[in-house]
Amino acid sequence: MSGKIMICDLKRKTERYHTEILRAFTRVTESGWFVLGPEVSRFEKSFSEYIGVNNCCTVANGTDAIELALRAAGIQDGDQVGTVANACMYTTTALMAIGAEPVFLDVGLGTKVITVSEIERAIAKKVRAVVVTHLYGQAIREVEIMSSLCRQAGVLLIEDCAQAHGAMIGGRRVGSFGDLACFSFYPTKNLGALGDGGAVVTNNPKLAEKVFRLRQYGWLAKYNVVSGDGRNSRLDELQAAVLTEFLPFLNGWNLRRRQIAQRYAKEIFAPGIILPEVDGEDYVSHLFVVRAKNRDFFRAHLHACGVSTEVHYPVPDYRQPVFGTRFSDILLDNSELLANEVVTLPCYPEMSDGEVEQVVEAVNLWQG
Ligand SMILES: *Cc1c(COP(=O)(O)O)cnc(C)c1O
Repeated sequence: MSGKIMICDLKRKTERYHTEILRAFTRVTESGWFVLGPEVSRFEKSFSEYIGVNNCCTVANGTDAIELALRAAGIQDGDQVGTVANACMYTTTALMAIGAEPVFLDVGLGTKVITVSEIERAIAKKVRAVVVTHLYGQAIREVEIMSSLCRQAGVLLIEDCAQAHGAMIGGRRVGSFGDLACFSFYPTKNLGALGDGGAVVTNNPKLAEKVFRLRQYGWLAKYNVVSGDGRNSRLDELQAAVLTEFLPFLNGWNLRRRQIAQRYAKEIFAPGIILPEVDGEDYVSHLFVVRAKNRDFFRAHLHACGVSTEVHYPVPDYRQPVFGTRFSDILLDNSELLANEVVTLPCYPEMSDGEVEQVVEAVNLWQG
C-alpha cells in the first residue's frame, strides 16, 4: 500500500476547477460589487430552482442560516425547540444565540437521523419548533410524515440540509419539506464555497421576507429598521459567483460520492464493522460513517495503513462542557452509543478508484 489518504482534499478540487474559479473571481473583481449584488441574486435564483422552492435567502454561514430561520419562525428567548444531539452543536449554537431551550431528541440506530416517535415526544412536550437534520447525507425518509404531524400540532419544522444538498425523497429534494430549510456552503460540504456561506430556503413568502430583513440589520429598506433582532449575515459576491460555477457539478459529485459509498458497502467485510445503508437517491454520502466497537484501535490500524479517519461526532450536545450539569438528567441511548462508535472513512468526489481500493483493503485487514 502506498500514499496517505486524507479524509478530504480540497486542493484537488481547486486544481480541477481552476478555470471556473478564475472565471468567478474575474467576474466579481471586474464588477467592483462585493456584497449582496448581482451574483448573490443570481445564485439565490438558481439554488431555489435546484431545490424546488420559491425563495432562497443566502447568509454568511450555515449556523446563521439556522439562527435566522428560527428567528423568522418567531422563536424567542425561553421558547422550547426540538433538535437532535448528534450533529455537533450547530443547531444548539443557534438556539443559544437566541436564548431558546433545546429539547434533545434521539435518532434511529440504523439511519442516525431523527425518528417519528421522537417528533411525537417533542410535540407532546409543547415545543414551538423542531429542527430535523439530514445527517451524513442521509435524507430523513419520514420527513413528510413529520412535517404533517408538526403542521397539525402548530409546530414549525425546519430542515437542516447542511450535509444533504441534492438528496431526494420521492423525487423531491430535501429543503422543500419543512416550513424553512437551512444550508451551509462550508468548503467541505457537498456544495461548498471557498470560504463560509449559507442559505435559508422556504416556500412561505412571509417567512422569506423576514429572513431577508434579519440578514441585514433588520432593514425593511435601506436605513429603515423594522426588526429588533436583525443581524449582519450576508454572503459575499465572490462566494456566490463560485457557487454559481459549482452548482452544475453538484449532481455529478453526489453520484461519485454514492458510487464510492456503494463500493465500500459492497466490498468491506471486516468483523465488527457496521456499515450504513447507501442505496437510494435519498443518500448523497456527505460522510461515510461506519460503526466500530473498538474505535480507537480501529482508527490506529487504519492510520498505520495510511488511511485518515475522523469522528463525527464524539460528544452528544447535552454533554458538552459549556452546559455543566444543566442537562445531566438527559441520556439518549442511541446518541450515546453512536458517539462512542462512529468512525468516518474518506469519501469525496476527487478520490481515485485506487484510493478507494486502498481504503477497502486497509479496513478488511482489521481483525476486530
Ligand atoms: C456544517 C453544518 C452546519 C453549520 O454550517 P456552518 O456553515 O459551518 O456554520 C449546520 N448543520 C450541519 C448538519 C452541518 O454539517
